[in-house]
Amino acid sequence: MDVADVAGVPAWFADHLREAGIAELYPPQAEAVEAGVTDGESLVAAVPTASGKTLVAQLAMLAAVRRGGTALYIVPLRALASEKREEFSVFDDNGVSVGVATGDYEASGEWLADRDVVVATSEKVDSLVRNGAPWIDDLDCVVADEVHLVDDPERGPTLEVTLAKLRRVNPNVQVVALSATVGNAGDVAAWLDAGLVDSTWRPIDLRTGVHYGQAVHYGDGSQAELRVQSGEKPTGAIVRDTLAEGGSTLVFVNSRRNAEGAAKRLAETTDGLLDADERDRLADLAGRLRDVSDTETSEDLAACVEQGAAFHHAGLATPHRSLVEDAFRERLVKVVSATPTLAAGVNTPSRRVVVRDWRRYSGDAGGMTPLSVLEVHQMMGRAGRPGRDPYGEALLLANSHDELDELLDRYVWADPEPVESKLAREPSMRTHLLATVASGFANSREGLLEFLDRTLYATQYRRGGDGTDNLERVVDSTLEYLDVNGFVDGVPGDGRLEASSLGHTVSRLYLDPMSAAEIIDGLESAPEPTALGLYHLVSRTPDMYELYLRSGDREEYTKLAYEREPAFCGDLPSEFEEERFEDWLSAPGDIRGKVDTADWLLGAAESLAAELDLGNVPAIRAARKRVQHGVGEELIDLAGVRGVGRKRARRLFDAGIETRADLREADKPVVLGALRGRRKTAENVLEAAGHQDPDMDGVTPDGTAEPADPDRTATADEGQGQANLGDF
Ligand code: ADP
Repeated sequence: MDVADVAGVPAWFADHLREAGIAELYPPQAEAVEAGVTDGESLVAAVPTASGKTLVAQLAMLAAVRRGGTALYIVPLRALASEKREEFSVFDDNGVSVGVATGDYEASGEWLADRDVVVATSEKVDSLVRNGAPWIDDLDCVVADEVHLVDDPERGPTLEVTLAKLRRVNPNVQVVALSATVGNAGDVAAWLDAGLVDSTWRPIDLRTGVHYGQAVHYGDGSQAELRVQSGEKPTGAIVRDTLAEGGSTLVFVNSRRNAEGAAKRLAETTDGLLDADERDRLADLAGRLRDVSDTETSEDLAACVEQGAAFHHAGLATPHRSLVEDAFRERLVKVVSATPTLAAGVNTPSRRVVVRDWRRYSGDAGGMTPLSVLEVHQMMGRAGRPGRDPYGEALLLANSHDELDELLDRYVWADPEPVESKLAREPSMRTHLLATVASGFANSREGLLEFLDRTLYATQYRRGGDGTDNLERVVDSTLEYLDVNGFVDGVPGDGRLEASSLGHTVSRLYLDPMSAAEIIDGLESAPEPTALGLYHLVSRTPDMYELYLRSGDREEYTKLAYEREPAFCGDLPSEFEEERFEDWLSAPGDIRGKVDTADWLLGAAESLAAELDLGNVPAIRAARKRVQHGVGEELIDLAGVRGVGRKRARRLFDAGIETRADLREADKPVVLGALRGRRKTAENVLEAAGHQDPDMDGVTPDGTAEPADPDRTATADEGQGQANLGDF
């Protein structure tokens, strides 16, 4: 089907597509048009990665806007919101206004009301619905990108409930749900009362297999030699082999740290295979990466890029990400090692994909668990650039013959799993039930049941095999919990049901009601809480994902717990209650990954303490400051100056500048020395502190103020900045 023949879509869009080299719709896109996606019909499009789902959504939204309506595009990750914004920039150029809703959970986003198209994460949409944003009940088209993520235990329920709410307030809304190929796309379509395009079509052939020993074993039974030289890792060998054919490689690993480590190693491989021109351009790119920020990540990334490799993960600054993505698309960067964020929608195809890690750490399981077939297939789907590569190739890596067999069975020959609602998980049910009552979506048990009947959970599981009503059972036990803890008022029977004032607060704070109950309990038993006590308190709530004690930690933490027993909120459980004690002890875990959550939870604790008039607000606020800046008490003042942060605070402190007031009066050469000669940074910092004359022109850095050895300082910073249990 020619793009110009699609009825209901403005002519400029067809022109735009043609300019971008898109003249014919891909077969699944044509099927979607035939199914009425441009006439306002709801549709689930379950097609492989990189098969043009975005275009289906664009056609639907533009047709809706042309009919005088508005559209909402729901993305699963914040990082993807800006990606889509860019993709839709041509809309703005042609009079279709686009807004991106990010930022605060609580903002009502009124300015979005006059946009034709809004892009937002499901969390943001959920909060807009909860806060009663007026434009939310005036939507004509809702796109749910990556709708298979309703299966995700953490974030799926929010998407599921949000879609149910949007459909409730907009009874005739068109829902366009984009999904990877899943085992049961029909269930999703039945849930959304939508048509279905379920296709395995891909624009370019994909060969999948497993590398083992000195060869690739393809899924079709064929083999090809791919030798690993001595001293080389298989991933390095694959990158080298791909480069020899003029292709690039995308390597998926399971953590940010591994992404950085892999890029460093692979840089050694690519370094020897660059020509002089590439080396110049890469040096230039490295310079631009360093200019983005004065951080270790920036430096590490630039150092890899100089040698032709890069890493990519959600911890990168936006300019870092786009520079890396662009250079990879241009094939200047030869290999990127990435966490799966990149598989989730960033369009960076490459000749080969290596799924190096097929297991990841799971707190729930307390160890490494295999990735789902769906996740691995999505990563594999990034292989092959239509029109440029003859085919795409995606490989897993095996260390033994048994593992080769296992990987072929588990991933290469396997079909993706069905999508299953996770709404009935207790934390999700508690949170969403309370929110539904608090935002007035339901004001009786019956009303709740009626609303929840619109969820995927109800479609899939409402009726148990023995005729029991699973939904009623879960709702009743959750309501009882909310009632006992004082979050809802009214009899959880057939009478009127509403959120208590505390319940409203908890819902507004986005807390799992169980976390709120634990925080309240802890605060009530500790009128003068310590920072350690507060930190431990928020860390043992279900909203803080759990980590397990590493061997050796137990003994150290037990000792510390006894030494500092009076500092904790509430009683220490007995050491002989094995499981409870272990849980209690492991609560603070690895602080680095928890800082943001802790900040948020301490903010919530502050609101709860204020609401209940507990009187410990100042103590909570101080503890929160320390967590926000990731610093010990002595650095709080400095780290609060804009542009300083924990590392620079440490450097300035070590150079004798200990407070904001010191900084305001500071000797410029000392400041410049402590900030490693970075003039612009030093000027900004002095300006923020209110220094009379921040200008650094002609100032020579004081050598004695310089951090002695940047590497050593960096490590010391990690230790000092990222507090651990002993620091409090
Ligand atoms: P998905 O969302 O399915 O992973 P995308 O929508 O990102 O895939 O599309 C992948 C790539 O295919 C994009 O670069 C897009 O411009 C291109 N594309 C989409 N539809 C067509 C088409 N009909 N013809 C040629 N290229 C297309």
